[in-house]
Amino acid sequence: MAVPRNRTSNAKKNSRRSHHAKKPKNLSACGNCKKLRLPHRICPSCGHYDGRQVSAAKAE
Ligand SMILES: [Zn+2]
Repeated sequence: MAVPRNRTSNAKKNSRRSHHAKKPKNLSACGNCKKLRLPHRICPSCGHYDGRQVSAAKAE
């Protein structure tokens, strides 16, 4: 196995890791209750998807 000849400097290590930050979740508003939910998923608060009731709602 190859062994690194030189120690990676702090600046080189940190600039390599500059792309590792986590991006925020992509949220969109529900068409029925206007609450934020993940796209292409049933709304967790009202149970609607594509303008109709799909699953049982917690509270309406
Ligand atoms: Zn909803």
